[in-house]
Parts: sequence; C-alpha cells; structure tokens
Amino acid sequence: MAADVSDLVSFDEFITHWAADRPSRIAMREEDRLSTYAELEERTARVASALRAAGLEKGDRIAWIGKNSDLYFTLFFGAARAGIVMAPIGWRLSPVEWAYIINDTRAKIVFTGPGFDAVPDQLAGKLDHAPRIVGDAEARALIEATPRAPFTPSGPDDARPMDVVDRLVAGLHAAGGLVLPARCGGCAAPGQVWCHDCRGAARRPPPSTTPAVGTPACWAATRCEGPVRAAVTAHKDGGRRDLRAGLADLLAVAAARALAGDPGLRAAVRRGVPVLLVPVPESRRAGRRRGEDPVGALAAAAAVALDDESVVLVRALRHVRPVADQTGLGRAARAANLAGALAVAPRFADRVEGAACLVLDDVVTTGATLAEAARALRAAGSVQVAAAVVAATPRSPRGPPGAS
Ligand SMILES: [Zn+2]
Repeated sequence: MAADVSDLVSFDEFITHWAADRPSRIAMREEDRLSTYAELEERTARVASALRAAGLEKGDRIAWIGKNSDLYFTLFFGAARAGIVMAPIGWRLSPVEWAYIINDTRAKIVFTGPGFDAVPDQLAGKLDHAPRIVGDAEARALIEATPRAPFTPSGPDDARPMDVVDRLVAGLHAAGGLVLPARCGGCAAPGQVWCHDCRGAARRPPPSTTPAVGTPACWAATRCEGPVRAAVTAHKDGGRRDLRAGLADLLAVAAARALAGDPGLRAAVRRGVPVLLVPVPESRRAGRRRGEDPVGALAAAAAVALDDESVVLVRALRHVRPVADQTGLGRAARAANLAGALAVAPRFADRVEGAACLVLDDVVTTGATLAEAARALRAAGSVQVAAAVVAATPRSPRGPPGAS
C-alpha cells in the first residue's frame, strides 16, 4: 500500500491509517502486554468514547501522574484523537507542584500510573477544583468496559494560535522541571508567577491612541495598568527575571501586529529590505543601578518568541549623553530631556542605513522615548520606523510616573 504518510497530521489520522495498513503488526509492547495497531486503534477509540461520555470536550485537559506505560500512551493517544489534551506531569515533582499544574491546566480527570495510589491523599487540600482521580486498575477496566461510540476526531482545523498568556504558563511547566515562583508578578499573591485574575488583565486590549507628532506608529499587546503595570515594573526595577518569558511573549505579539499592520514595514519585507528589531537602550545611569539591561533582554527573548526569519535583533541604539529620570516629568519635559540623547552606534551605521526598524520597549506612556529612538534611526538612514511595546498606558493629562 503506497501511503503518503506526510499527509498524516493528527493522532487520529495516523492511528487509523496504520490500523488499516498493518492491523496485526505490533504497535506497543510493555513486558508481556502487546498491542497491535488494530488493538491500539480500538482501545484509543474507547478512551476517546469514555472521555466524551464523561463530559469532556475538545480543548479540555486531563493529566497523568506516573511513569511511562502502555496505559499512559493509550490514554494520551485516545484523548488526542478526540481533541482532549493530556498534560503529563513529572512524577519526580512534589505533590505541591503536581497540584500547581493540575490547578493551572484545570484538568478534569487525573489518571495515575501503577505505584501512585497515594496521589489522592497527597493532593488532598491542595486543589482549587475537584478533578476525578482515576487509578491505573480503574482506567484499564474503564477502557475494557466502554464500547466505542462515534466521536468527531480532532483535525488540523482545530489548530489555533495558543493564547499568549497560556503560553507563558506552558513555558513555565516545560522549563526543565517546575520552579515554583514566590509570588504573582501582577498582584504578589503567593504560589504562581501570574495568577488567574492577573492573566485576565493581560488579555485586555491596548488603548487606542493617536501617535503624537514625531512619534512612530506603535503597537501594544495590552494596557499598562493594574497587574500588567506591576509586572512590567517588577521585571524592570525589581529583578523579577521569572516574568521575562511571559512579558516577551506579549512583546512578540505586539511586534507581530506591527509587522502585519504597518504599511511601511510590510512594504520593506516585500521589497526584501531588512527589518531590524531595535531595543530602546538602557540609560547609562539606569544600567549601572540595575546592573543589567532588562529591556534589551526582554527584546532578545521576544525576538526568539517571534521566530520570524524576516527580522533580526540589532542593538543599534545607545545613549550619547546622560538623561534625567523621566519619573514625574510631563510630556514636554520628557521630550526636552530626551532630545538628541540617542544615536546609532557607529559599528551599526551600515546596517541601519536603508533598513526598516521596529523599535522595542516595555511600555509606552507619552511616546517621548520612541520619538527620540525614531529620530536617531531616521538620522542614520532608516527608511521606516515603527514601534512595538508590551503595554500602552492610557493617556492621562499628567502622565503616570515611572515610564516614558
Ligand atoms: Zn496576580
């Protein structure tokens, strides 16, 4: 049978394909338990049917605490066929960490492997919802007892861009063992880097603003207020590097919006003109105080998250004279404070000349910093300048302190 297996993109497709192609070949073996492809197809269909019968729908999560086993893969593939997501949880983690992941994924059923019968007791009092906990004997019996029923398999059309804030959380889970952060970056509640309420705040759309004269068009991922504002400040001034990945995802969203929405950048990409991502540089004074460059590091992480071959991160800008702290300054004073403060470093002059630039910063308030960055880049021959920031501050007459 000439199979073009490159067309198989979903778990349902590849399991049904191989079950038809080679039903009696061994698909899985654990000790003396063998599954042929036909049996794997049948069992995973029963898992999908059992999960649907239990009320789970596409996009719902289940979890697994245990070592690798044929049961784990049967549950994983069966769930995936129905579009239900298995979150495997490292069995070496502590029960507190198990609970964190179960709470965070909102897993509706937690399956446990052989030797993990104490999980219900270990999780007692730690969960903020009430998932069903199913041991391995019960799970195997369930699979044997459930007749297969029709279900709509998940397919390529179910793919959707992952919500950036979900990605923040997924990234934390995946980051080489879970490190429990001390507190929420938005509200300082203990236990999570970004609590449920603050996650909602990060999804608020940015305020619509008309750029002031001289300020480049600017795209933001969200509004700079409440928890988002607290997180940005904690990252920049409080040394909270654990917030960087999540903020970088938001900055990547803003950058993607700019690349898609700015006619000048689009035209540059079409013509093959390089697009440079240029972080706003740390002032020498602030750099010394903080001992690092949080915005530069944030921009670098955002460039990785953006994963776009048409752009390249270039730290082209530098301060050419000291500036006063922007805190407490109004719009005109900020502009005066920054005028002529930035320049393209000589060694990047060739790259900026004729290039399009997307200036990256964490926050925009009056736009004075972005205007000065744009002026310096245009003075060095940049043909187009736009900006992207994590969050935009809703305009107020005096301008809130602490940002520029
Ligand atoms: Zn919070």
